[in-house]
Amino acid sequence: MTPVNASRREFLKAGLTAGVALGLADPALALSALRPTVEVGNPLEHYPARDWERVYRDQYRYDGSFTWVCSPNCTHECRLRGFVRNGVFLRSEQNYDSHRIGDLHGNRASVAWNPRGCLNGFTFQRRVYGPYRLRYPLIRKGWKRWADDGFPELTPETLSRYKFDARGQDELLRATWDEAYTYAAKGMIAIAQLFRSTQTMLFRYEIKEGPKVHETEINGTPWAMYNDTVIGYDRAGREAVRVTVEEPIHVRSAQYANSI
Ligand code: SF4
Repeated sequence: MTPVNASRREFLKAGLTAGVALGLADPALALSALRPTVEVGNPLEHYPARDWERVYRDQYRYDGSFTWVCSPNCTHECRLRGFVRNGVFLRSEQNYDSHRIGDLHGNRASVAWNPRGCLNGFTFQRRVYGPYRLRYPLIRKGWKRWADDGFPELTPETLSRYKFDARGQDELLRATWDEAYTYAAKGMIAIAQLFRSTQTMLFRYEIKEGPKVHETEINGTPWAMYNDTVIGYDRAGREAVRVTVEEPIHVRSAQYANSI
């Protein structure tokens, strides 16, 4: 037994002595340490069990894939391909088809736009499964009250009442999808009514320049707004709607300049 107060050197010496004694007592054990290594020409041919390699080969296996557009408030809107296994969205890659997609007017990018995507997009599935992901619709309490009151005109007083001057501080209320769609539709109708718009489909528009109605400075650059008139025409070329640009202006306080 090692004395309790043995030095480190004494302890190692005692251990080695015991090991040698044990080896000499069992010749097979003593010689096993001296046995030559097995000569193997190609380790990949002789390796005894290679099932474990399947784990590495299968890590990129997938059951299906789909294309999707990454749009996390980034202007690139990259079209990516997502891969799914066992119903789980595993990863995304570039889809190399930027040259094949275009806008409604037929404009297309060249092949030079490939590949699209960045690490934000390629890890988007982590957001989809993240514990803090948005799982149901939320409506800002002040906005909902404004909608319930019939979208009254936004004056300095109503802006405050419905907390348009304190977004980021307001409460968010959980809503069903039905409520969310209904409120979004109500908002669209209110916008249409505010601009005295029309339900007629517009096929062409023109702009008549109007007077300057507002000027300010944005990041040191002068900025001006002109109350132009937009005239929309229906399929037959008849005027269907006429709206001006001017609308109530609200300047956010510096404290909440970036609030949404
Ligand atoms: S993949 Fe990257 S660059 Fe493309 S839209 Fe997403 S965040 Fe923007």
